[in-house]
Amino acid sequence: MTATTLFYIIIAVIILDFIVDKILDALNAKHYNDPIPAELTDVYDQDAYQKSQRYKTTNYKFGLITSTFSLVLTLTFLMLDGFEFVDNIARSYSSNSIVIALIFFGIIMLASDLLTTPFAYYQTFVIEERFGFNKTTTATFILDKLKGLAMMGIVGGGLLALIIWFYEVTGTYFWLYAWALVAVFSIFVNMFYARLIVPLFNKQTPLEAGPLREKISAYANSVGFNLDKIFVIDGSKRSTKANAYFSGFGSEKRVTLYDTLVNDLEDEEIVAVLAHEVGHYKKKHIVFNLIASLLLTGLTLFILSIFISNPLLSNALGVAIPSFHVGLIAFGLLYAPISELTGFVMNHFSRKFEYQADDYAKNTYKAEPLVSSLKKLSKNSLSNLTPHPAYVWVHYSHPTLLERVRNLMR
Ligand SMILES: [Zn+2]
Repeated sequence: MTATTLFYIIIAVIILDFIVDKILDALNAKHYNDPIPAELTDVYDQDAYQKSQRYKTTNYKFGLITSTFSLVLTLTFLMLDGFEFVDNIARSYSSNSIVIALIFFGIIMLASDLLTTPFAYYQTFVIEERFGFNKTTTATFILDKLKGLAMMGIVGGGLLALIIWFYEVTGTYFWLYAWALVAVFSIFVNMFYARLIVPLFNKQTPLEAGPLREKISAYANSVGFNLDKIFVIDGSKRSTKANAYFSGFGSEKRVTLYDTLVNDLEDEEIVAVLAHEVGHYKKKHIVFNLIASLLLTGLTLFILSIFISNPLLSNALGVAIPSFHVGLIAFGLLYAPISELTGFVMNHFSRKFEYQADDYAKNTYKAEPLVSSLKKLSKNSLSNLTPHPAYVWVHYSHPTLLERVRNLMR
């Protein structure tokens, strides 16, 4: 194969990926106005329903604009040999391959961030604002951006530097060391997420003593689950949308509730949401997800190790001097359809697990408050009640509201 052939394969993969994605979006949008299923007629009143219709259409159109922009940007960059240009800049500063890679990725990340930030700004301060979701101030928005970039620079840069070093020292076997590194790192992050990362962005306080805490404890005791770490996080600092999640394991395991969730739901509904989360834990979904993602990472790194030393990868992107970092970009572009496929399989498992967690909540607590909380959360986030099945198949990590309500009421 020649570099030119591979270049056109990469372009074809990017365009095909875009087309498939847009077809799914369009199919989904065609069903926005479908009649609402009988089980869900009490989710929206007339006003809220109209609002949800406008929200969906606005987001659909905006998504079309942003994804087209990023497609045109990527293709133009490829056609103009942008990677060669950036690689030359990086090489003018150093001859050390790790430093070159860090400068190379630094420039690409910063440039793409600068170009996409206006869209993110518009999404938050125009669209989310118009529909009453936005609580973020410009200062928080900018700080979040800077913290995100700093974290990416330190963590991402550190991991990348180590992986390139492994490659230089051990050659083709680098993938085993890289895998071990990523495994240790992700277990560490999983374990200490709430202690290390959340405080950078949010304030979290233990759930205060009172009727809610007592009801939660009573439930936790009834299923023999040790749940003394319950935290409330100030999600309302950014958005009115609500959430709850589980993190860590062993002695670090804790439940985090958004203050918006605590305010929007009745006590019984919150306990039902927690029962669902406990279900994920008891059914070992958290461990499964961690192991599955580690295996997928290993597989990806192994496939990467087969191709990375081939200069064709760098040459296909128009870069004369083959390197690990440019090869990584080419590999990433070619691997996109495969990672979409694995994401699709993971979504399939995730939807199965959601049913299991719902069943667990139904069996150990009650179905009704979970149904009403799911409906409230859907209403408050102006969710789409009639998504297209193909779209759900590919993109949804949770079953649709209708499927979950039907399962819970059965
Ligand atoms: Zn769940």
